[in-house]
Amino acid sequence: MNYFPVFLDLRDADLLFVGGTEDILAKLRLALKTKARLTVVADEAEDEIRALAQAGRLNWMPRFFEPDDLKQKRMVYIATGSPVADSIVSRFAREAGLLVNVVDDPANSNTITAAMVDRDPLVIAIGTEGAAPVLARRLKAELEERLSPRLGRLVAAAAKLRARVSHDLPSNIRRSLWDRFFSPKGEAAELAGEAAIEAHFNALLAGVDAPRQGRVILVGAGPGDPELLTLKARKALHEADVILHDRLVDPRILELARREARMVEVGKTSGKESSWKQSEIEALMIEEARGGATVIRLKSGDPMVFGRADEEIAALEAAAIPVDVIPGITAAVAASAALKQSLTRRGRNSSFTLLTARDMQSFAEYDWHSLSAKGSVFAIYMGVEACAFVQGRLLAHGAAPDTPVSIVENVSRTHQVICTGTLDGLSQLVHRAGIHGPAIIFIGLAKTASASLPQLSQGVA
Ligand code: SAH
Repeated sequence: MNYFPVFLDLRDADLLFVGGTEDILAKLRLALKTKARLTVVADEAEDEIRALAQAGRLNWMPRFFEPDDLKQKRMVYIATGSPVADSIVSRFAREAGLLVNVVDDPANSNTITAAMVDRDPLVIAIGTEGAAPVLARRLKAELEERLSPRLGRLVAAAAKLRARVSHDLPSNIRRSLWDRFFSPKGEAAELAGEAAIEAHFNALLAGVDAPRQGRVILVGAGPGDPELLTLKARKALHEADVILHDRLVDPRILELARREARMVEVGKTSGKESSWKQSEIEALMIEEARGGATVIRLKSGDPMVFGRADEEIAALEAAAIPVDVIPGITAAVAASAALKQSLTRRGRNSSFTLLTARDMQSFAEYDWHSLSAKGSVFAIYMGVEACAFVQGRLLAHGAAPDTPVSIVENVSRTHQVICTGTLDGLSQLVHRAGIHGPAIIFIGLAKTASASLPQLSQGVA
């Protein structure tokens, strides 16, 4: 970052404008929104500048620039119409240690004026270090459209009401009060006038004393790519006070969480001794929710698939803690998208099985005979270590050696790997491809030709 955004307090400041051009006029119109004293030095000036001087809004000195004009000034805008004159004035001003902006000439400036969305006192400044003014304008237009014109007045009202919210209130309660203050309801109140804002605020303040009900939301984080999150999951991440997440949840998703949320990794490595016992995770969720927190239990993929969600829901229900579930895209579904291969197909398979290669103790046993039948399609979770075992069981129960198999490792993450082969070569395939990360093994599915082509998704290499 070469330029750092700051907001200048211009309440008792003097600004100098050198030049009487249209460029200067544009900057003057912005500066007139502030309380700064404005001086224009220019032998010639646009009519509107003269009119502003006559109306007493600024001080116009109808002459050429002199170095003494810089005295006591905080900032200088320069656009005389002559590049040579601009750079001379700029040098004087920079030597005097002032903030200097020569309009459209970053080389002679030390300050950039941001594109602004003005909902005073809420001001959003957008800058691209001069690299993409068109993009800055587009973002400005998008924000202008998105933010109600009344938002500024609501912010101004909040400034006055702020003192009435006690600092003794826990920060999450204060935050939720202001969150509800700046809502469509708040904007409607603003439209109705000061008394309505007051009533809106008082109702929120009265609600604060009621004990806050904590709750838990089991949220599916999907396979990795943040764009595969549901909108509901994103919203929940913004509301979280505490986030308990699995080791498999992609770091890019954790970055979307509310900055103040407390993150706890309650990782369990499949089949290995874990630092967190299931009972400890449940106890922590209950404790936090009893304290009034919104707890997000963030699980990779979908919470209801091999995620022990039922145990957590039962524990929460037994403790009378409200619990909700937000689904996510489970790894097998994302993997079938990566393969561009349907999980079901008319005439091939009308049912589809998700299974885990591990049970509580070791490798899981199934009705291998029916899984080995022709046309059977299933996805194996946690199957990398067990692949030789699965291969042996299926072949021993009559599965065709040339049954297609596909492996998708790190679905939708940067190191996504897809490989395909046949059942008799499954464990060799896993070893040759060096599959170590989380992977889905499909039995009965091959990838389509186009699955090897570069993918659209940003998250995929
Ligand atoms: N609830 C998760 C599954 C958790 S079990 C879901 O719905 O996806 C952990 C297993 O999920 C891993 O061993 C692996 O088989 C699979 N898995 C999770 N994320 C994956 C990813 N990004 N790519 C491939 N497999 C993944």
